[in-house]
Amino acid sequence: MKYQSFIGLEVHIHLLTKTKVFCGCRSAFGDEPNTNVCPVCMGYPGVLPALNIEAMRMGCMVAKSLNCTIPEKTWFERKQYFYPDMTKNYQISQFASPLGQKGWVDLEGKGRQGAIKKRVRITECHLEEDAGKMIHTGTASLLDYNRAGVSLLEIVTEPDMETGEEAELFIQQLRRTVRYLGVCDGNMEEGSLRADANVSINLPGKGLGKKVEIKNLNSSRFVRLGLDYEIVRQGELLDAGKEVIQETRLWNENRDETAIMRTKENAKDYRFFPEPDLPVFTPDAAFLKSVEEALTELPLKRQRRFEADYGLTEEQADLICEEKAQADYFEAAVKQACGQGLENKDAAGRIANWLLTDIKHILHRDGISASEFGSFKLTPQRLASLLVLIAKGTVSGKNGKQTLEAVLAEDKDPAAIIKERGWEQIVDPAKIAGIVQTVFAAEQATVDELRSLLSGGNPKRTNTLRAYLVGKALAATGGRADPKIVGTQVEQLLQA
Ligand SMILES: [Zn+2]
Repeated sequence: MKYQSFIGLEVHIHLLTKTKVFCGCRSAFGDEPNTNVCPVCMGYPGVLPALNIEAMRMGCMVAKSLNCTIPEKTWFERKQYFYPDMTKNYQISQFASPLGQKGWVDLEGKGRQGAIKKRVRITECHLEEDAGKMIHTGTASLLDYNRAGVSLLEIVTEPDMETGEEAELFIQQLRRTVRYLGVCDGNMEEGSLRADANVSINLPGKGLGKKVEIKNLNSSRFVRLGLDYEIVRQGELLDAGKEVIQETRLWNENRDETAIMRTKENAKDYRFFPEPDLPVFTPDAAFLKSVEEALTELPLKRQRRFEADYGLTEEQADLICEEKAQADYFEAAVKQACGQGLENKDAAGRIANWLLTDIKHILHRDGISASEFGSFKLTPQRLASLLVLIAKGTVSGKNGKQTLEAVLAEDKDPAAIIKERGWEQIVDPAKIAGIVQTVFAAEQATVDELRSLLSGGNPKRTNTLRAYLVGKALAATGGRADPKIVGTQVEQLLQA
């Protein structure tokens, strides 16, 4: 690579507070336009904002999870600029004392060119209010102020990433983290997680180049595509002896390219000054304790623990830890299965397998999202007892899968269903021997041919005939006989 590239991200997340950050208006997506507004969030003269402590707590939870320091004092500034979706002509934000400072994130994942492992420094996290939304109809521009004043946390990184893929992984990891913390739904399509990316390139050792910002990237894939496009575009400019212009660009997803939006304003144009209507916030011991208590084991850490403690593959752990509810479900089921006598890794392997195949298929088919695991009729306890029944040979794998469907349809325990349907597996060798004898009597021609082939016949033909007899015996028991015992009995009778 001729040039070195530098990528930094600014990620905005909507915090899941019930009300807006400085007033009591509802904070919700998709309500009728302009129904969640009041004089405070519209910035009428004389009104006073009041800080939503829940927004501050959620912001600090994210900051702590990104290894940031929470300062002893934090306050707000007014960021002056005019825009039609900003009725006050200023936005309340944090400038000099962001609530989270100097942290880091360790990126870990599989990239197209091999493993990605990199520490990305977090510059800061700060709390601010969102602006309203403009909707352009072609003949008019409409304004919806429901979003004005919604709690927004901005997470700013140092320019430590080098490829679009690293930035994509950063967004995915952050998205999973904020969902685990329960502070943001991470829905990029609805705009509750949005990213701006800045990128510059330069000859190695020359430091940062001229910075271009790509605004409003609403999917992690667009982050990757936009940045990779920009790196190539800037490289071609430099190769041609031209200069990169410092500007803001937009990703055009229909044409797969970035296009200029505007040349960049300077930070000083915002004329930040302290917000006079909000007091300085000094987090006390009780507040900090409530932040600590609300923290949770982070997704990547949990994934590594699942690999070590339960012997899952990296891919299994990754898929199971994608949703916190699913990972919780998995651990609860393993605990139950171990309580009923299975060994830890055996239990974990069986549960992971079922979760990622049959259960995943059912969830998909029935339109149940993985976050609804808490109210799933197949409780961790029921899944564990079903898998224990299979492990003990009480029910066959095939009937086990039918039992799974019946548990969901009838909301009953697996053991009760198996008993009611007579699905217990037949494991008595004498009983199976009798069934095999009956089959042999009915299939005399096959048996004779097979016996004649036993000493050195075509192995493909002998296998086919063996499988045919085993299949007949299994069918005679309605699939309830243990296939392994049937196989042994068939073999013994052939040799007899
Ligand atoms: Zn309001």
